[in-house]
Amino acid sequence: MKFICDVMLGRLARYLRIFGLDAIYIRKYEEIPHLLDKSKQYYFFTKRTKNLPEGSVLIKSDHINEQLIEALPFIKPFLEEKLFFSRCLECNAILKDVEKSDVEGLVPEYIFHTHVEFKKCPSCNKIYWAGSHIEHMEKWIDEFLNLH
Ligand SMILES: [Zn+2]
Repeated sequence: MKFICDVMLGRLARYLRIFGLDAIYIRKYEEIPHLLDKSKQYYFFTKRTKNLPEGSVLIKSDHINEQLIEALPFIKPFLEEKLFFSRCLECNAILKDVEKSDVEGLVPEYIFHTHVEFKKCPSCNKIYWAGSHIEHMEKWIDEFLNLH
């Protein structure tokens, strides 16, 4: 399942990526027809109200927490804990495990010495480690999913 996020929903796209969901962020509406497949395996989160393709979900709020609550009924069937923190927040690519020795010099020295596991984005080369995603995000996810 793909989750296409319209231009005004960039933060929502990042949060969906934290969950490891395939969240595509579009900057122009013209990109939409290229992304819609005939199998209809997508939702299109948008704030637009006109000329909407099938699979569109209107997101009303301007606040990220409320946007997530609006999106939750659509994303909930696809949430799996093993997928959390598995995607690059910048470009949506699936992160690859890398050897610790391969990231020496590429991450702050303190981080290098205090962490064992690192992942790398194959698209933008950004290095991730536990804690490099938004602070306290695991706690936030637990609380969010318990509340809703
Ligand atoms: Zn990336």
